[in-house]
Amino acid sequence: MDLVNDPLSPAARSLTCSIMVFTRDLRIADNPALAAAAGSARVVPLFVLDDAVLARWRDHANRLAFLLESLHDLDQSLRGLGGALVVRRGEWAPTVLRTALGAGAGQIHVAEDVSGYAARRLARLADAAAGARIGVTRHPGITVLRPGAIRPPGGAAYQIFTPYYRRWLDAPRRPPAAPPARITLPGGIDPGRIPQLGELTAATPSAAADTAGGESAGRARLQRWAGDHLDAYDAARDDLAADRTSRLAPYLHLGCLSPAAVAADLGGRRGGAPFVRQIAWRDFFHQVLAARPDAASRDYRGRGDRWADDTGALAAWQAGQTGYPVVDAGMRQLAAEGFLHNRARMIVASFLTKDLHIDWRQGAAHFLRYLLDGDIACNQLNWQWVAGTGTDANPHRIFNPTLQGRRFDPAGDYVRRYVPELSGLPASVIHQPPAAVREALGYPPPLVDHHAAIAEYRRRPRR
Ligand SMILES: Cc1cc2nc3c(=O)[nH]c(=O)nc-3n(C[C@H](O)[C@H](O)[C@H](O)COP(=O)(O)OP(=O)(O)OC[C@H]3O[C@@H](n4cnc5c(N)ncnc54)[C@H](O)[C@@H]3O)c2cc1C
Repeated sequence: MDLVNDPLSPAARSLTCSIMVFTRDLRIADNPALAAAAGSARVVPLFVLDDAVLARWRDHANRLAFLLESLHDLDQSLRGLGGALVVRRGEWAPTVLRTALGAGAGQIHVAEDVSGYAARRLARLADAAAGARIGVTRHPGITVLRPGAIRPPGGAAYQIFTPYYRRWLDAPRRPPAAPPARITLPGGIDPGRIPQLGELTAATPSAAADTAGGESAGRARLQRWAGDHLDAYDAARDDLAADRTSRLAPYLHLGCLSPAAVAADLGGRRGGAPFVRQIAWRDFFHQVLAARPDAASRDYRGRGDRWADDTGALAAWQAGQTGYPVVDAGMRQLAAEGFLHNRARMIVASFLTKDLHIDWRQGAAHFLRYLLDGDIACNQLNWQWVAGTGTDANPHRIFNPTLQGRRFDPAGDYVRRYVPELSGLPASVIHQPPAAVREALGYPPPLVDHHAAIAEYRRRPRR
């Protein structure tokens, strides 16, 4: 498009045509960026498969499959409104800008995200778009409260959850965004196509990672789960075998569900408050990462840890062959389902960092490879919370895997479900099978002695 000879002012162009760039907000309902874009006569609902993200996700088959399903669902919804999802692939900022120029758009609407990479690519887009006299408007929608909406006195972000949560509960909320009544694409635009999984990765998804992606599946799950289990959430959430948590995290991660709408909906129902508190934890970690993007890969609060370089122990942990039944059940659940119960996440993360003295980054990377809900803010900062390098550096946060197993899987059913070699053992021994029983069942001896490993952890030299 020849900008010099463009007869329309940017404001007039934005009334005529806008770009809605979907990122981690793959939904129609309560989507502030989409609602704003829908004020234009024509809208390009765009998703760019970002080459840089695809390169990082190349072996993340579970999450890629979930993403593609979510894009198909979004496309269906947009078609129902008269539009379609326009799909492009390439370098994110130049591809968005090219699409905007091609459509004669005056405005680009996008949800603001928190990772360092997301902030950089958005800044790059804003710079390039300004040169082309196209406006870029950043919207909320990834979290309930925008990072920075509440701040501690004199600081950029809260470091302790409880004071954050107190303020979070009372902070004003944005009004829900109305879904568009209709989407009209600019004439002649080619929607492109959503690729097949095999075009993005050579890896195959976990056999049981059958959680369907997308807003429709997310809403169905939300209503079903809340109807059946919300009132008992607090009592059952730590019961490993009961598996009563919502499993909504993948939908929240990709924005198939609006966290603000979920919190508003469930918060008012019986049993909703403890659930909404967990959504506040999600917001908490997002505001930490927004203020300290380097914490995605560096210790938030470095202690000079000298981590062990033990590839054999790391491989045993990854494969669920540590000889600690609850740890192995967790690691095998992760590989089989692309999901891991929160209690099990804490137990296996503590085992890797405190018992095996292996760097939390190794564990976080393995989680991101498998988790459907893999999320930089929640994953890296929860790992640091367990490792003791995070905002709340409690050095005594050590989980004894045998005691945790007995307490949170008292009947042993969680272990039986994921460690079939041990399925015939009674509850009395399943969390600590005798050596002869292990040998007979082909189950490994403990990789380390927990108490000796913890004593060594406490003695380990720090830089
Ligand atoms: C080492 C480790 C790594 C983790 N990695 C991730 C990750 O990559 N992505 C992710 O979404 N969560 C992560 N969590 C947090 C938590 O384990 C998951 O959100 C939760 O298990 C998802 O299951 P659910 O949807 O059934 O949770 P529910 O118990 O039903 O909770 C509802 C929602 O609250 C949020 N939530 C719950 N607990 C936490 C928490 N501790 N921190 C932040 N948000 C929370 C999630 O969005 C979750 O979907 C991690 C926790 C640990 C200890």
